[in-house]
Amino acid sequence: MENCAACERPSVYFRMYSGEKLCRGCFLRSIENKVRETISKYSMIRHGEKVALALSGGKDSTALISIMAKLGARFPGYELVAITVDEGIAGYRDESIRIARKRCSQLGVDHLIVSFEDLYGFTLDEIREALRRDGVGLGTCSYCGVLRRKALNSTAKAVKADKLITAHSLDDEVQTILLNVIHGDILRLPRITPDVERKIPGLIPRVKPLREVPEEEIALYAFLRKIEMQKTPCPYAKESMRNDARMLINTFEKKHPGTRYTMLRSFERLSSSIRTSTIADIRYCKECGEPAAADMCKTCEILSHLKPE
Ligand SMILES: [Zn+2]
Ligand SMILES: [Zn+2]
Repeated sequence: MENCAACERPSVYFRMYSGEKLCRGCFLRSIENKVRETISKYSMIRHGEKVALALSGGKDSTALISIMAKLGARFPGYELVAITVDEGIAGYRDESIRIARKRCSQLGVDHLIVSFEDLYGFTLDEIREALRRDGVGLGTCSYCGVLRRKALNSTAKAVKADKLITAHSLDDEVQTILLNVIHGDILRLPRITPDVERKIPGLIPRVKPLREVPEEEIALYAFLRKIEMQKTPCPYAKESMRNDARMLINTFEKKHPGTRYTMLRSFERLSSSIRTSTIADIRYCKECGEPAAADMCKTCEILSHLKPE
């Protein structure tokens, strides 16, 4: 490859959507700067806040915690803690917990591990069995996501965090947009755009500093920084419709570099026009008291399948 566009060193990466060739140092800096700019563009974190990062041990979250620790050291102003959720997926979660624990101790970040079993009384594998038995036609990822979100929110609340950070990438965001469109979930679109001002009592605002970084660049960042991560994908991931959305978007991106950014921007514009008219009523679950869209929250609804008669 030719030389870096910025500094003339040999390049390691060609950024298709911008046409830039970048050397190792300029590439790594570009990712860290992008994260810093995204945080400030959407006012994701304010000075002095405590931020809890959802650390799964996979590529995106291990890269993000390294970047957040680095930015925090350079621009002090937030306190970082990590939360790992152990869903109880046999043969999968143990390795990622080990990696997450090691990364946090290397970075000097406090690390909490919470399990579905402790919180809900059952592992994901057990919940999956019960739902199958009752003929609930939901994909594993969809209810695992519900249970994980609640676990993260309640743990973040317990440690008095001001924000909950997740490692969703540009690809995750764009896949979510596409899936919402396929399902006609137009009212969910405004949630795509970060809005830390919209405060819902009981819900820790969630922010996504990697939302403008493409997945392959997070992978390259982790690789160049030699960040250890879990490589085995979750055994249930292949069941999800998201996987098909990913393939579709990747085909577009390959033929038309920049499609993902175009989609993100288009939907941000769209969502700002629906936002004012459609902030859904927030209610509180009659079982557990957490914020919910109906009388009972989705977590309690799922767990109702596991209650003894
Ligand atoms: Zn360079
Ligand atoms: Zn509930």
